[in-house]
Amino acid sequence: MNDLKDNDKLYRYLFQNRAVRGEWVRLNQSFVDTLNTHHYSQPVQNLLGEMMVATALLTATLKFEGNITVQIQGDGPLSLALVNGNDQQQIRALARVEGDISPEMMLHEMVGKGVLVITIAPKEGERYQGVIGLDKPTITECLEDYFVRSEQLQTQLIIRTGEYQGKPVAAGMLLQIMPDGAGSPEDFEHLATLAATAKNEELFGLPAEEMLYRLYHEEAVEVYAPQVIQFFCGCSAERSGAALLLIPDEEIDEILEEHKGSIDMQCECCGTHYFFNKEAINKLKSPVQAE
Ligand SMILES: [Zn+2]
Repeated sequence: MNDLKDNDKLYRYLFQNRAVRGEWVRLNQSFVDTLNTHHYSQPVQNLLGEMMVATALLTATLKFEGNITVQIQGDGPLSLALVNGNDQQQIRALARVEGDISPEMMLHEMVGKGVLVITIAPKEGERYQGVIGLDKPTITECLEDYFVRSEQLQTQLIIRTGEYQGKPVAAGMLLQIMPDGAGSPEDFEHLATLAATAKNEELFGLPAEEMLYRLYHEEAVEVYAPQVIQFFCGCSAERSGAALLLIPDEEIDEILEEHKGSIDMQCECCGTHYFFNKEAINKLKSPVQAE
């Protein structure tokens, strides 16, 4: 069966005698839903999976309500890859491909000259944005670097994408020394060495606790209740309409003429179509005040 225990879940845990904390996540249906309406090539699919895992792990470290956007922008055939997730672990992703991407392409070949931008937007309070050069061969290494630099804490990030029982899957683990200074670098290294032995089929196929037991059966690990991860787009006719109003009038008229009087604003994330005809557009421009 494809519905394994702990599919689309995120667990946080604590090594009680080591002052090191960890997270484990696996994306199944949430990843499938993301890929559903697109025909991304394999490297793009893998990259989005890695970014989704990273976003879920990063979001779980938030101490407040809000959301995180992880995006890559570049001048290569992959001009944009974007993942957004919130503290409820609702996640969405999209990629914009404007050229040919062959199956064996590496990150730098896809992105060209590019950057990784991480935006943390709390519901209340100031946004934080970090811009990182893509100066490592994989997105996982770039993100690991980000974690270490932004939080100044020893961090290990393991992210794998692939297929399990015929379905796309992305999974990962994060290990981080506690900020209170009680953890030792040696303890962290020891746990990180063990985590690095995790095999793909274990990450993709085992329940979290069994995975943790295999890696750390000599450790006292306190595992907290999991969070469910869901694909959630959040698009709406209102938002599409607002985006439509940013297009100059003449252009709108041209598009209307070309497309038999109806503009299709398709959501890039989930593929939902929102149609607007002349009447609907006029209504957007001069909204009738209700009451
Ligand atoms: Zn959508």
